[in-house]
Amino acid sequence: MATLAVISDVHANLHALEAVLADIDEEGIGEIVCLGDTVGYAAHPARCLEVVRDRAELVLLGNHDHAVAAGESFAFNPHARAGVDYSRDQLDREAIEYLKTLEPLVRRADICYTHGSPRDPIREYVFPDTPEDDLADIAKQARCAFLLMGHTHVPLDLEVDGVRLLNPGSVGQPRDGDTRASYAVLDPDTGAWTLRRVEYDVEAAVEDVHDAGLPEFNGERLKAGM
Ligand code: ZN
Repeated sequence: MATLAVISDVHANLHALEAVLADIDEEGIGEIVCLGDTVGYAAHPARCLEVVRDRAELVLLGNHDHAVAAGESFAFNPHARAGVDYSRDQLDREAIEYLKTLEPLVRRADICYTHGSPRDPIREYVFPDTPEDDLADIAKQARCAFLLMGHTHVPLDLEVDGVRLLNPGSVGQPRDGDTRASYAVLDPDTGAWTLRRVEYDVEAAVEDVHDAGLPEFNGERLKAGM
């Protein structure tokens, strides 16, 4: 199988997305998969969705994508809700219809791709410190050798009962204290998983969030990686 670049949680941060795609191209990786949440939070949801659609072989539905498609932002905190409402405003009808076609979980070859987890593909968070019993159940429900998850914005690489639980972190809003954009490269033949961190123009992304009239916090958090 071909080597895969795994991206997730772009969250409308075009500056971060472009830097990651440049790195992927430099590495010569031909195939890209996106684990969801392309929109929400930041200033460029329409352009990010356009670019991800164009570049990725597989695009999943995340909780923010779902909220934008359905016009349901009420379950989110105020910062996330503003991002969802802004994204819905920015996307044209065709882009909204496209979001509605996406799935939150797909199994292909020996890889299970999901935004959250196999138990709750849109909403469950699987962190490095998720209790062992839950991890074992999640690994079992993957029914694949590799389980690729997004949603937490925190990288993960664990082996549980013979299943690799992997998370590439977030392209557009890293939350592990490192402000650089995060993605990963998987070689399904060898099991090699390489996390990559890419510098991008954080200040420009913050400025765009401000200019878009989005909550300042949606930009400030990018400067802290949280
Ligand atoms: Zn997200």
